[in-house]
Amino acid sequence: MTTWLEQQAGVRERRGLVRKPTVRDRARASDSASHRGMIDLASNDYLGLSTDPRMAAAAMDAIRRWGTGAASSRLVTGTTELHLELEHHLALFTGAEAALVFSSGYLANLGVTTALGGPGTLIVADEYCHASLIDGLRLSRSEVREFKHNDAADAARLLAERTQLRALIVVESIYSVGGDAAPLQELFSLAQEQDAMLLIDEAHSLGVAGVGAFQGQGAVAGTSLADHPGVVRTATLSKALGSQGGVVLGSGLLREHLVNRSRSFIFDTALAPPAAAAAMAAVGIILQEPWRAAAVHHNAAALAARLQPALGGPAAVERCAGAVQSIPMPSAEAALAASQAAYAAGVQVGCFRPPSVPDGISRLRLTARANLTPTELDHACAVLRDILERTS
Ligand code: PMP
Repeated sequence: MTTWLEQQAGVRERRGLVRKPTVRDRARASDSASHRGMIDLASNDYLGLSTDPRMAAAAMDAIRRWGTGAASSRLVTGTTELHLELEHHLALFTGAEAALVFSSGYLANLGVTTALGGPGTLIVADEYCHASLIDGLRLSRSEVREFKHNDAADAARLLAERTQLRALIVVESIYSVGGDAAPLQELFSLAQEQDAMLLIDEAHSLGVAGVGAFQGQGAVAGTSLADHPGVVRTATLSKALGSQGGVVLGSGLLREHLVNRSRSFIFDTALAPPAAAAAMAAVGIILQEPWRAAAVHHNAAALAARLQPALGGPAAVERCAGAVQSIPMPSAEAALAASQAAYAAGVQVGCFRPPSVPDGISRLRLTARANLTPTELDHACAVLRDILERTS
């Protein structure tokens, strides 16, 4: 085994695929953008809430009242009033009939896919789905077929060949690596035609996307999909909501099924009280401060417009549905070198290489957070333009 570990380390080194957790300095509580003076275009703290004093105050109150940890699983003693209140608020916020919180978005995806899947369910999933969905599909013991990214016609073809009684279509409303949106209405019509359930992961939409007055409430809120019993949504509380945890949003019937059948709900210690309280505070802040979601879109459009050639021309500006901008790079080594050069110039960007890229293309991933200042945006664009010109 030790020899194999050494060989594996050597292979990663040769392919430019070594990954290391980068340590960041403590963020100043009043300004999450200032990590060692770095401009943060890498984190998923889209609305700048993770260091908001109101979130910290809510978490502290919860610690005093309920303790630092939940102390057991939800079905033993881990359910507090806080959990139920958070579920109530998340359901209202997103327009769902019911919500069930998990201790992470990863576990929410594992929990719902395994509880809905099985030998009697065909699962058709977008080929770019997140690892947490893929792992859930593998664990579900269902027949799983992938359709071409955002191609509802390809999904229809796979569903038409189905022999199973039940079917589940799995997508993300905004894709985590590419930042583009799924054709939700088209997929919903297909699900209705085929008597399938539609599972939408809103990890990168919640807090950011939204139709009209529902901006920030996710891509589905305010549409006919929101409380449809044939639609189930998952989301994380750890990105725009600045906390930790995950949620499944759907019908009351689905919630009851998950409470009884979802192993990552039943056998996992409940979401920690401070995380639950902070997520609830975030929902209130998002509703009171719609400028945050609007600022994400404004900053994302500014980034897309200024880096347009590298992003792939004007189409890229159209494609950007939320905070994420994705810049394809010629190789894993080039992506790493570009991200290191940006870091040295004070700009932190995401460097995504295989196996974290669904299409195998290494890229820089930029997140247009709400609390980037115009000066930070100018500086970041100047640095990145310079690096990208040298790369291509
Ligand atoms: N789904 C998607 C699309 C994600 O990007 C992520 C986080 N990277 C998750 C689920 C998992 O969420 P969490 O980090 O809360 O486990």
